[in-house]
Amino acid sequence: MSENDYPAVLPEQGDRSRGVIALLESNCTVCMLCARECPDWCIEIEGHKVTTPATTLQGRDRSHNILDRFAIDFSLCMYCGICIEVCPFDALFWSPEFEYAAPTIGGLTHEKEQLGGWMQSVPIEARGDNDPADSASDQR
Ligand code: SF4
Ligand code: SF4
Repeated sequence: MSENDYPAVLPEQGDRSRGVIALLESNCTVCMLCARECPDWCIEIEGHKVTTPATTLQGRDRSHNILDRFAIDFSLCMYCGICIEVCPFDALFWSPEFEYAAPTIGGLTHEKEQLGGWMQSVPIEARGDNDPADSASDQR
């Protein structure tokens, strides 16, 4: 088998292949660190805060962030991996997936549903205990 057999035969991808970036949505706290550190400014994140009222008399209200939008513009991304490195919550992973060409530049901006779907292709050694079933399909 050789690369010339593609697309009839998919090439074998190494475990550390940098195909595309996958998002484990359930781990994302909308901290924005990845978007701030990305040298190309190609990550777009939108979220909102929700407050859960205290359940006891002395308790305090608690607030947390909900992710509304997470998109990466792969027409700008240079695959440096900084976003993956800086994420403090293990929400971003390298996936060996590479078949995401688009007929337009705009089509190369992939939203969290697509990024979440790519979690399925992240090698188990790379994702550790993080379950891809908790990705974008997770309706928190
Ligand atoms: S791999 Fe680099 S350029 Fe691409 S989204 Fe992450 S930080 Fe930005
Ligand atoms: S992917 Fe990681 S660094 Fe980026 S906003 Fe979510 S938790 Fe923060």
